[in-house]
Amino acid sequence: MNAAPKSLVRRPSWPTSTSRPVVTPLQPSVVYASQDPDALDTQYDEGSGFTYAREGHPNASVLAQKIDSLEGISGGIITGSGMSAIGAVFLGVLQSGDHVIGADQLYGRTLRMMADDLPKFGVETTLADPTDANAIAAAIQPNTKMIVIEVVSNPTIRIADMVGISKICKDSGILLMIDNTFTTPRGYQPFDHGADIVVHSVTKLLAGHSDATLGYVAAKDAKLMEKINIANVTWGLTPSPFDCWLAERGLQSFELRYDRAEATAIKISVALAGLPGITRVLHPSLPDHPDHNRAVQVLGNRSGNMMSFEVAGGRKAANALTNAAPDLPFAPTLGDVGTTLSHPASSSHRALTQEERAALGMSEGFFRVSVGLEDSALLIAELSEAIAASQKA
Ligand SMILES: *Cc1c(COP(=O)(O)O)cnc(C)c1O
Repeated sequence: MNAAPKSLVRRPSWPTSTSRPVVTPLQPSVVYASQDPDALDTQYDEGSGFTYAREGHPNASVLAQKIDSLEGISGGIITGSGMSAIGAVFLGVLQSGDHVIGADQLYGRTLRMMADDLPKFGVETTLADPTDANAIAAAIQPNTKMIVIEVVSNPTIRIADMVGISKICKDSGILLMIDNTFTTPRGYQPFDHGADIVVHSVTKLLAGHSDATLGYVAAKDAKLMEKINIANVTWGLTPSPFDCWLAERGLQSFELRYDRAEATAIKISVALAGLPGITRVLHPSLPDHPDHNRAVQVLGNRSGNMMSFEVAGGRKAANALTNAAPDLPFAPTLGDVGTTLSHPASSSHRALTQEERAALGMSEGFFRVSVGLEDSALLIAELSEAIAASQKA
C-alpha cells in the first residue's frame, strides 16, 4: 500500500499492479505533471506524452487510432463533434480569397457554414449537384481550394459521382474532403478513392449509442493534418475524455452493427416497396433506385442502414404514421442501435419552401429511416402497421 496522503488535495500515486485492466481506462485528467523542466522540454520537442487535455489525452488517442485503422490512415484526430471536425478543416486549411465547392445536399449545418460562416472570413462558396461531375466541374474557379462531398446524400439517398469528382480533384489539384458519416469506412474507403481529407460525425454510426457527441478528421498529407490539428487545439474544438471512452466502447461493435442494420435495411426496403400508400422507397440496394448503377460502382455490395420512403396523403398521413409507431423514436438523428424515424419537412429541411423541398424530392409524406438492430420482422410489422394507419387518416 502507498503511504496515506498528507492532505486530501494531494493525489496519491496510482496503485501499481502486475495485472492490467482489460477495459480501456478512462482518464479525465485535464493536466499532466512532468518530472522537471528538462523532461517537459523533451516532451515538447519530441511531441510525446500529454500535457493538457485540450492538446490531447489518452482516450482521444485510443479512439483516433481505432478509426484510423478503419479508414486505412494514421494521424487522425478526435474533435468535440462532427461539426467541429468540419470546422477544424475549414479553419486549418482555408484562407481569405479561397473558394470552396460543396455538394448541394450536404448536412444542414455544413450547408450553413458554407452559406453564412465561410463568407464572413472572405472564403467564397458554391453549391453544386454531386451526382453530376460536370456540374461540379462547371463550378470550379481559379481560386477553388476544396470540394466537400457526402457520398450518400441525406435524406434523399442520392449517390455522388465519386469516380468523376475524384478525377476532377486530382487533375486540377483541388483538395477533396469527404464527410464519410453516412457511408462509414465499412461502406466506402475515401482514401482509396482520391480523398485528401476525411471527416466523421462519430456521434452517429461509429459510436452508435446516441450517448456521445464527437467528430473525427484525418488527412493524407501530414503538413495538412498538422494545420487541422493546430486549428482543433487552438480553437478548442477538442473532445471530452468520457465521450471518447463511451465512443471507443461503442466502436467495438461497429462492424457487427453496421452489417446487421444494412441487412435489415435491405429487407425493409423490399417489404415496404409493395405496400398500399407507398409512393417511393429509396435504398441503394433497390434496382429502381435512381442511382442504382452508380451505387454499385461506388459502394460495391454495400448499401448502408439509411433508407427513405414516401407515403401518399401529405402532412395528415405523416402525423398519423408517427402516432401509429410509438416505439420508433421520431428523432432527428441517425446511426443509433435503435431504429429512428425522421421527417425532413418538419426538421432538417423546414427552412426550405415547399417548392424547394419538392425540387429535392421531399414531400410532406417523405420519411427517412435510420435502421437499427431490432429484428427485421418486428420492424417490418411496425412500419407496415404505421403506413396502413397513415392511409386511413
Ligand atoms: C450529424 C452529422 C454531422 C454533424 O455531426 P455532429 O456530431 O452532430 O456535430 C455532419 N455530417 C453528417 C453527414 C451528419 O450526419
